[in-house]
Amino acid sequence: MLVAGNWKMNLGHADAVGRAADVVRATDGATGTVDVAVCPPAVWLDAVAERLRGSGVRLGAQNVHPEDAGAFTGEVSPPMLRDLGVHYAIVGHSERRQLFGETSAFVAEKVRAAQAAGLVPILCVGETLEERESGDAEATVLDQLASSLEGVGSADLVVAYEPVWAIGTGQTATPDQAQAMHAAIRGALAERFPGADIDILYGGSVKPGNAAELFAQPDLDGALVGGASLDAESFAAIVAAAKDAG
Ligand code: PEP
Repeated sequence: MLVAGNWKMNLGHADAVGRAADVVRATDGATGTVDVAVCPPAVWLDAVAERLRGSGVRLGAQNVHPEDAGAFTGEVSPPMLRDLGVHYAIVGHSERRQLFGETSAFVAEKVRAAQAAGLVPILCVGETLEERESGDAEATVLDQLASSLEGVGSADLVVAYEPVWAIGTGQTATPDQAQAMHAAIRGALAERFPGADIDILYGGSVKPGNAAELFAQPDLDGALVGGASLDAESFAAIVAAAKDAG
């Protein structure tokens, strides 16, 4: 099980460092059995890394550029993240696909570059409400998954199923909806990377109150948590639910 917190563009310097310390303290009893990570804004990665040192909580980045260096103003490269002790890099989050026009081809470049630098990509895929209501959810997600893995030769990654309609809306996929999509993703990954053991996280308004029923589903291997990860106690309760689910 892996529970990763995506802090998005939130928290100032002191709050980010403080929150990291709170997460370390609140998840201390679980980090031996559950993989736990926080993904702060890029500007606070260094300070949060310092606070996480020696703990069981890993550091993740919210984004990464596919090139190692060059004229890409404002971007951060995979080797730069590795230098900071970053372990995971979220790629293809729906906010980046929708607000910043990232295509699956570009996302695939990021997956390849992140892996080449020794980062573990957390590849996000998910359908919109329109796609779900028109019965296209599974086809959309599997198509996005395949094109976001174009040219990717290594199974060293995590996949996060994040229905766009459930992100930050308070509307969570039902355990059955999540399980059905996770099983489909698991099947596609098994064809793509036979024998590989790839964690599939659910993301979309995961909270302490719904985490246990989601984690009880056989194909859920954890969660990518947005809003609830900003509160260390809520985040720790989700980590505890992952621990209980084994
Ligand atoms: C996310 O942004 O990855 C996410 C799942 O957000 P939230 O938990 O707030 O829906």
